[in-house]
Amino acid sequence: MSCSSKGVCILSSLVTICWREENQEMVRPIRSRISSLLCAKAPLVASHVYESWCCSRFSGRTSSSFMRPWPKFMDWIQMNSCRAAASLPLIKEKQPEGPSYCARLDRENKGLDEGNMSETDDYQNLFGLMKQRFMSFKNQKYIKELEHFQALEEAQSPKFMVIACADSRVCPSNILGFQPGEAFMIRNIANLVPPMKNGPSECNAALQFAVTTLQVENILVIGHSSCAGIEALMNMQEDVESRNFIHKWVASGKLAKLKTKAVTAHLSFDQQCKFCEKESINQSLLNLLSYPWIEDRVRRELLSLHGGYYNFSNCSFEKWTLDFKRCNVKEEGSSYVVKEQDFWC
Ligand SMILES: [Zn+2]
Repeated sequence: MSCSSKGVCILSSLVTICWREENQEMVRPIRSRISSLLCAKAPLVASHVYESWCCSRFSGRTSSSFMRPWPKFMDWIQMNSCRAAASLPLIKEKQPEGPSYCARLDRENKGLDEGNMSETDDYQNLFGLMKQRFMSFKNQKYIKELEHFQALEEAQSPKFMVIACADSRVCPSNILGFQPGEAFMIRNIANLVPPMKNGPSECNAALQFAVTTLQVENILVIGHSSCAGIEALMNMQEDVESRNFIHKWVASGKLAKLKTKAVTAHLSFDQQCKFCEKESINQSLLNLLSYPWIEDRVRRELLSLHGGYYNFSNCSFEKWTLDFKRCNVKEEGSSYVVKEQDFWC
């Protein structure tokens, strides 16, 4: 048995003793001993301990010692191992990145794509793939850009606040390539920004933090094609009290709907929805100006408001900027002017 394997076995035994030990006074010194060992062999040991736990957890054992909830002790082990892993190159040796590793990932991903797995494997495959992607992120990104990620641990200073739809097909980080630390983000149904008079919401809470604390320089509201939230807004009956959460939320886009109905009465419902998908973005840009701490920074040219529209039927992206000086912002009936329109296709 190699020295490292022996170490792993000893540690495994110590963990088992610790795990089953009822006397907390005895546990503490053992934890302390394990902690010092983990600092030296953290990635290997943590993986072994974790997988041992997983095997026993899901192997059907019903011993009372295994029926306890996931202990804080395991969090402690993982936390220490992660910290140690960040400073040790050992993780690279344990996670091969060569062509064969990539080929295996490829084969496994292909297996998922083809749907050639049994239903009982679905759960494991889904999270197995998630684990692979996480480990790939860790090895290909985090470890390689360690300094950058360590700096992010101290602080963030994103240039963008992004408001996008919660739709699974339109993740801004995927389509626009936002990297960790680049965009403070909120996603909601139909990428709506309610006006200040509507009161508190998670959207304006995030906005306040991004604008007043992080002092982002740009707010980008991104809409998209085939938005079910906008369709719900366009389908809603007027002035009907609803207990439906979706209806209550999308009702904040009512002004965009009214304008759409007014100028597109001759168009089909689908075309009206498409129009409203963009109109609601501009209404949200105007609603942003109802918050004094946003309006003030826009007026002082410290903050710019932008719209974006992702059409995933032809993979194109429109971008524009609100021309604040030419906008007519008032309590009711505000109008907008845009500038710097761009079309990426
Ligand atoms: Zn949507």
